Amino acid sequence: MPRIAVAGFMHETNTFAPAPAGYAAFEHGGGFPPFSRGEEIFARMPGKNTGLSGFIAAAAEKGWEVLPTLWCAAAPSAHVTEDAFERIMAEMLERMAALGPVDAVYLDLHGAMVTTHLDDGEGETEARVRALIGPDVPLVVSLDLHGNLTPRMVAEADALVAYRTYPHVDMADTGRRAADVLEARLAVGKPFAKAFRQIPFLMPIAWQCTEMEPCRTLYAQLAEIERDMGLVHLSFLPGFPAADFADCGGSVVAYADTQTKADAGADALTALINAQEDAFAGSAFSPEDGVRKAMALAATASRPVVISDTQDNPGAGGSSDTTGMLRALLACGAERAALGLMVDPETAEAAHKAGVGAEVTLKLGGKSGIPDDAPFEGTFVVEALSEGTFDATGPYFGKGPMFLGRSACLRIGGVRVVVASRKAQLADQAMFRYVGIEPTEQAILVNKSSVHFRADFTPIAETILVCTAPGAMPLSPASLPWKHLRPGVRLEPNGRSFA
Ligand SMILES: [Zn+2]
Repeated sequence: MPRIAVAGFMHETNTFAPAPAGYAAFEHGGGFPPFSRGEEIFARMPGKNTGLSGFIAAAAEKGWEVLPTLWCAAAPSAHVTEDAFERIMAEMLERMAALGPVDAVYLDLHGAMVTTHLDDGEGETEARVRALIGPDVPLVVSLDLHGNLTPRMVAEADALVAYRTYPHVDMADTGRRAADVLEARLAVGKPFAKAFRQIPFLMPIAWQCTEMEPCRTLYAQLAEIERDMGLVHLSFLPGFPAADFADCGGSVVAYADTQTKADAGADALTALINAQEDAFAGSAFSPEDGVRKAMALAATASRPVVISDTQDNPGAGGSSDTTGMLRALLACGAERAALGLMVDPETAEAAHKAGVGAEVTLKLGGKSGIPDDAPFEGTFVVEALSEGTFDATGPYFGKGPMFLGRSACLRIGGVRVVVASRKAQLADQAMFRYVGIEPTEQAILVNKSSVHFRADFTPIAETILVCTAPGAMPLSPASLPWKHLRPGVRLEPNGRSFA
């Protein structure tokens, strides 16, 4: 029975965002399962939509012995602190060393981690694990589709296996795919040939959605190339275009039994992606234009018009508290509109003190120092209160408990705002219902999310519009103050090159 050591350490780093991720952020998990050690992994991970959950299930079917070490993740933010990275890596390696010799290692990583002392968090993680296990023990890694691959990450691992959906409804399936690739690696007994290509333009995350073109077709073509060219595995990662280091951006990695096959597979997919550069440049609305368009559509619609407040997406490092869309809804006189999540613990607490039915005058949101944003001062009616613990019901988070802390529904005019104390991306209908707002009965919903919300909201939406209110994650990466990219990369599709 092969003995497989497993570990997970996940962070998506927006190096332009305001706050770093310290050790406490990984202990809590911020929407992910909390820091799990040893056997706790078997108690918490099964049934969840994570790479490790799928890997554990597949390993059981293959008759492998899984040796758990640690798994942790934190909400996207600025850099992981040196203290957090070094403490977590020291514990991971200590636990792995205590297992004695193993037949392989599986790591559940994100791929876009930057720390305060290292540009390539995952490359360093892999290199330290590799140094412990030696050159011959297979090391297979699953990654988020937003991973920014580096030559070091490709070199240190036997295989990198990325999600193929955004919204990421296949995180657990990716763990299963990683187990299949590891099984193939154990069977051949020697490393695969590999080919790595980088895409020469940054792709805005709002247009990376795999339910839309061009990615819907590109991922179908990926599967065809993988099958028809006889590859062991092929991944395409559009990347996370808010990490300021040389290897930021999209990439392709292919594995095969010969170098010729790996190169041909990687080149075929890379050519198809490069040919879609125009299609990666979508169009969006200013906040007021978007609200006016939504109101016009809502006049004859039977379902809500959903607006993505994409630049304040907490899943990409946003603070989930900017007020641009709220101001636009009120300025345009929107009715039956709801917006979430506005993360403002101070306001949630004030609403709880005032009680249901009370009127409160306060400064809502806008407290994160985002340029061109400020708190919204107004008088609201407290319509509902919650302690913030409820079950998600949609496909992105998967069915399971959420903990948003003290929360409230505040109404001003025809607009209801979900105020929460803890950050999470508004990607589940239950995140409106837990404070008494029935999303299907609204004319307009504003979600602080770029793409993940589509998994649960496309089925109830009349249509989806993308708006660009102030936030930490600009729709176009070209508007970020880049300093460390590799020369020649275009900062947006068909945009100017970094020099
Ligand atoms: Zn992602």
